[in-house]
Amino acid sequence: MKAFDYTRAGALSDAVGSPAMLIAGGTNLLDLMKLEVATPDALLDINPIGLRDIAPEGAGLRIGALVSNADCAAHPRVRADWPLLSRAILAGASPQLRNKASMGGNLCQRTRCGYFMDGHSPCNKREPGSGCAAQGGINRNHAILGASDACIATYPGDMAVALAALRATVETEGPDGAREIAMRDFHRVPGDDPSRDNVLKPGEVITAIRLPAPVAGRQLYRKVRDRASYAFALVSVAAAIRVSGGQIEAAQLAFGSIAHKPWTDERIEKMLIGQAPSPALFDRAADLLLEEARGQGHNDFKILLARRTLAAVLAEATQDATGE
Ligand code: SF4
Repeated sequence: MKAFDYTRAGALSDAVGSPAMLIAGGTNLLDLMKLEVATPDALLDINPIGLRDIAPEGAGLRIGALVSNADCAAHPRVRADWPLLSRAILAGASPQLRNKASMGGNLCQRTRCGYFMDGHSPCNKREPGSGCAAQGGINRNHAILGASDACIATYPGDMAVALAALRATVETEGPDGAREIAMRDFHRVPGDDPSRDNVLKPGEVITAIRLPAPVAGRQLYRKVRDRASYAFALVSVAAAIRVSGGQIEAAQLAFGSIAHKPWTDERIEKMLIGQAPSPALFDRAADLLLEEARGQGHNDFKILLARRTLAAVLAEATQDATGE
């Protein structure tokens, strides 16, 4: 590991605009530093600055950026009103990691593309302009939607997929002041600059995640992976669905591990509303989701897997739900 300076922030103002790399739980950053994929000159530890409250905000909830994933998943309000978030968090990592990982840090975790992580293969994300070894290489875990010629990596997390389905927002404080970013816009597609995973500006700090009023109905998170625990998703689907009078009245969906960001498509949500649930409808939803899907060889199976996972989630979310 490369030598670095370490300091502890005393207040949020120490972190905002700081040129140092921020560290909270360190559950991803320390791995990357040991592999010398991340080689910061200076780390600023933001654990002393607070941001650990979970508090009601109107009908919604404001979750501080330094709340641990474990505490968020176990919070009574989250479990009662946003169970999708709780389930997605508990589907990820291990209890030890969830105890350390922070909400803000979870959003900033980096791809687990093996060529990015190995520290020496051509990788436009790690070393802009060097190429992309995953194209023509081993790409079983890679994107089927939203990829570019520069990068086909996926965003690997679970929590952000649930937050995208729930239409959460991310609150930040930067050198130019505070702003609130829709979760669906927080992560970005790679385009010709895959080095940037999200829209945070230099010196900007995540301070909280805001959940809007809960969606009545059913909330599901289905994660399909190679083994039952401690594995990243091959495909995941987050859904909040309400059925009334035999018709879908509300539909919020997001998809994980199929793109460089938690993938959302409002066309699907709009198309489902007002319709009676049926296998044919779920098939049309999958057609829309996957109309521009493209496999890279080893990950071609994800196209069919995403179709079947979406259909299964929609069937479970609408089964026997005639008016909840
Ligand atoms: Fe790097 Fe992206 Fe290519 Fe992986 S897919 S090697 S992260 S450029």
